[in-house]
Amino acid sequence: AVVARGVEKSYGNLKVLKGVDLRIEYGKVACILGPSGSGKSTFLRCMNHLERIEGGYLQVGGEMVGYREHRGKLHELRQHEIAAQRADVGMVFQSFNLFPHMTVLQNIIEAPMSVRRMRKGDAIDSAMALLDKVGLTSKASSYPRTLSGGQQQRVAIARACAMKPKLMLFDEPTSALDPELVGEVLNVMRDLADEGMTMVVVTHELGFAREVSDLVVFMDGGVVVEQGTPDQIFNNTQMARTKAFLGRVL
Ligand code: ATP
Ligand code: MG
Repeated sequence: AVVARGVEKSYGNLKVLKGVDLRIEYGKVACILGPSGSGKSTFLRCMNHLERIEGGYLQVGGEMVGYREHRGKLHELRQHEIAAQRADVGMVFQSFNLFPHMTVLQNIIEAPMSVRRMRKGDAIDSAMALLDKVGLTSKASSYPRTLSGGQQQRVAIARACAMKPKLMLFDEPTSALDPELVGEVLNVMRDLADEGMTMVVVTHELGFAREVSDLVVFMDGGVVVEQGTPDQIFNNTQMARTKAFLGRVL
């Protein structure tokens, strides 16, 4: 499972995460909703130890993220240990972040070869299979700038999958896309979910959250205000803050 217990994070005097508690079983999809500034992106970044937390802990598959416990105290992991953990967690951002000077295929095989020490032939075979899944085999030798936003984001997802991550984090993966390109990216994410990938998705796509997620998490003010099944959150929330938020975005 993926577990957060009492996670706290500040930027200077600004406390952004005030004790986030969450548990996501392996193979499940959690969608995080919440107003701007509620700490959603910060929380995702903590799950990858891109941010140091000041309180609580995070675990992925029983392993603490970014720290080890020794004599009752937490000590930060060494750089190579942090890198090894990050290799197991895929991250897809709003901006596609492909390497601009590499072709689509090179983008996908880079990390499996350099980090996983995969042989080039094997990395290419696996990359082509992933490109087939996201419907982009014909773009293997194209450069990112020649692709649409939706295509670039599908490559970014394929690239993350090439590392065979235990967990995939998505931070508003469709927010930067023209409306007509959103569906193709959500469909790729839906396929991933159907294959049993464990996913944490920050999104404003309520249709996706309703249909694909096992767990809907509503964050506000640096805490998880409410979590439950899509039916519990979308149809039966008793909480005023959740209602107000859904009322605004629906
Ligand atoms: P949005 O929906 O707009 O993406 P969010 O829920 O993802 O919002 P965060 O990006 O996690 O919110 O930001 C939470 C708060 O932390 C905001 O007040 C933001 O200004 C602040 N913040 C985020 N990153 C930093 C940083 N690197 N330095 C200082 N403050 C930050
Ligand atoms: Mg954000």
